[in-house]
Amino acid sequence: MPAPAPFVPAVRASAPATSLSWCFAFVAGQLLVPDEEPATLAPLASIASAAFEPLVAARHYLGTLDGLDCWVLQLHEAPAGFRRAPLRAAMMGLGEPLMGLASRAAQVLEWDRAHRFCGACGTPTELAPHERARQCPACKHTSYPRLGPAMMALVWRRGSPAAPHRAEVLLARSPHYAPGVYSALAGFVEPGESLEECIHREVAEEVGVSVRNLAYYGSQSWPFPHSLMVAYTAEWTGGEIVRQEGEIEDAQWFALDALPKVPPRFSIAGHLIGDTVVAMGGPEPHATASVVRA
Ligand SMILES: [Zn+2]
Repeated sequence: MPAPAPFVPAVRASAPATSLSWCFAFVAGQLLVPDEEPATLAPLASIASAAFEPLVAARHYLGTLDGLDCWVLQLHEAPAGFRRAPLRAAMMGLGEPLMGLASRAAQVLEWDRAHRFCGACGTPTELAPHERARQCPACKHTSYPRLGPAMMALVWRRGSPAAPHRAEVLLARSPHYAPGVYSALAGFVEPGESLEECIHREVAEEVGVSVRNLAYYGSQSWPFPHSLMVAYTAEWTGGEIVRQEGEIEDAQWFALDALPKVPPRFSIAGHLIGDTVVAMGGPEPHATASVVRA
């Protein structure tokens, strides 16, 4: 997994603006990237750059990256010299730490957009001065950026009863995946549930098997729209695969050297599958360019 970014989060700038700043600018949910190939994001001379300023609908301070201010901007349209890119595709080209910052930026904008009115009494909300929150001036209801924890589990076994020394992993297809692509199991945590309980439930619901020895692998911010992916490995203890209708199009045990196409290492699914398979003695899996159906 990537090392932590040299990023210091903040809600408001506490010092004079830095001469260069990182700007994550969005138009209708898409990230603006320079209109060139490759489209490399770089710090801009000012957040009030002539190109962006007249188009700004909303702005939020994110913090500093290596001492430079970071902003997220909502623009009415893309200025000359920039084009809109789907967030997922744009993030794949950024690398860390910019990928994590783009995820943060997108989620701050989405929270701001979705909490303009109080969810309790309908009054227009206001930005809180000292924390990332929108508050209702009438009833004081406060809305913070939401995070939806989602669990991912890669189920493994040392070998099938017929071939006890041939390790396998359980991979599944969702109906919206691109043809031929398989991934680990995943599902959202329900209220009142621990992460571990969620994995046991999701694995049982989706493929009908039972697991033990849950081992934490890692986590990843996933801004579609506000998930936190938490990945584990889990050892199969029993049960034959029974697919959950509607959720799972196909699910199979795969030998480590005979895996189907899996997600790229851009996503935690790709890291989880690749690292686990390699650690168990298998080869690096073949990754797909696009997990979802075009
Ligand atoms: Zn209210």
